[in-house]
Amino acid sequence: AKAAGGNRFEFADAEADERAITRHGLTHALPAALERGEFFIEYQPLVHLGDGSVHGAEALVRWSHPQHGVLGPDRFIPLAEHTGLIVPLGRWVLQESVRQARFWQEKHADGGPLRINVNLSPTQLHHPGLVADTVEVLERAGLSPGALCLEVTESALIGADEGLLKPLRQLAEMGIDIALDDFGTGYSNLANLRRLPVSVLKLDRSFTQSMQRLPADPVDIKIVEGIVSLAHSLELAVTVEGVETGAQAEQLRELGCDTAQGWYYARPGAPDMIHSLVLMDAV
Ligand code: C2E
Ligand code: CA
Ligand code: CA
Ligand code: CA
Repeated sequence: AKAAGGNRFEFADAEADERAITRHGLTHALPAALERGEFFIEYQPLVHLGDGSVHGAEALVRWSHPQHGVLGPDRFIPLAEHTGLIVPLGRWVLQESVRQARFWQEKHADGGPLRINVNLSPTQLHHPGLVADTVEVLERAGLSPGALCLEVTESALIGADEGLLKPLRQLAEMGIDIALDDFGTGYSNLANLRRLPVSVLKLDRSFTQSMQRLPADPVDIKIVEGIVSLAHSLELAVTVEGVETGAQAEQLRELGCDTAQGWYYARPGAPDMIHSLVLMDAV
């Protein structure tokens, strides 16, 4: 039994080593990957819960790695954060998805309100060029600031001082929406919301998950009800993510959530998919 235990340990160690080696390799490969154009963006629609029409799309970055295949952001965003490569990578994501949003809008004569959501990581928030870069990207693409929503996680803003909030405030004053992502996971003080320049709360997937089996837990229902009513009284819109079934969508709509995102509507996909969904709406 002792030997077996030993073997298991060695096995676990070998796996941990391999993960560390891969992490190391990926970290070093990031800058060249950006130069070689190995990153691409998938878009996932956000729909109005009221009538199911498309409200916009969230840009989600992927890495088409020559050896490891397509890697999801959880594999490399933390590494890019750590080395600072997230700044040029994030700028590329912003530029590419803003250009894409402008293209969708041009393709639909009446496609004005189609919006684009882009994730911002904490390092990007701290980067002094954030506001200037964002303005430049929007101007170059000819997209109005009102069509852009920047998503910042709740945890990135917990305890944020004025120095960190100032650039967000400037962006919000220009008409860009700021969404508080993964809301409800960070134990932030709800009263604190008034201090933050945010206009959208994105309820974390854990809330949506608890609506998966109906009847949902009455306590969860009360919590979501409370968040929605507080958000609306502060004039914030509420988005829910991770909606996988029609029953969830219906429950969340009844609870007053405004927009939703999830596999029930569509998985993240190529830009054409968003285009087709908008065309279907128009019919
Ligand atoms: P997030 O911002 O919370 O994005 C939502 C994640 O949930 C995405 O995972 C999406 O594919 C997934 N998802 C959407 N609908 C469903 C559903 O119905 N069920 C389930 N189980 N999952 C669903 P993804 O694409 O792997 O992205 C993971 C995280 O990586 C994102 O979480 C975001 O924090 C980060 N990320 C993605 N793109 C970027 C980027 O360009 N910049 C930065 N800084 N972070 C990014
Ligand atoms: Ca997000
Ligand atoms: Ca989220
Ligand atoms: Ca998340």
